Amino acid sequence: MKNFILDSHKLHYHLQRVAEFEKRGDCYPIYMEVSPVGLCNHRCIFCAYDYIDYPNRHLDKDRFLSFLDEASSLGIKSILYAGEGEPLIHKNIAEFVEKSKEVGIDCGMFSNGELLSEKLVQKLLPNLTFLRFSFNGGDAQTYAKIHKPSKRNTYAWGGHF
Ligand code: SF4
Repeated sequence: MKNFILDSHKLHYHLQRVAEFEKRGDCYPIYMEVSPVGLCNHRCIFCAYDYIDYPNRHLDKDRFLSFLDEASSLGIKSILYAGEGEPLIHKNIAEFVEKSKEVGIDCGMFSNGELLSEKLVQKLLPNLTFLRFSFNGGDAQTYAKIHKPSKRNTYAWGGHF
């Protein structure tokens, strides 16, 4: 156990940024969470985003790719692709992850996993530091009751896998 640092704080790796924050009362973020889409193909009974009704909003590809250049140059170190919806629904998600890695930003992802095709695995895994699945239910029936996966939930994204 002594080989593991279990302190959840990583700020001691970023002392310059801490000093900047102390001096100016502000600094550019080290980490950010990005929601590529508002849609989700599930309707989990505990979902915190049901109140916004899973809007059909997608990040603009070109704008976000140029944002990644900007964010990297200003000091973002890591991005979590997750948030309000299922990130794999975005048709450019593999490009987003690939570009993040290319510009030196580490990234991880939270997903329900249903849309993870072999093609996406090949593109995503080499560029992700981690991929975490939401999987709630001890058997198929319980899972179906909790996640409520449905083809009808994908109504607006048009399918691309
Ligand atoms: S998979 Fe995530 S975003 Fe989708 S309904 Fe479940 S908790 Fe909400």
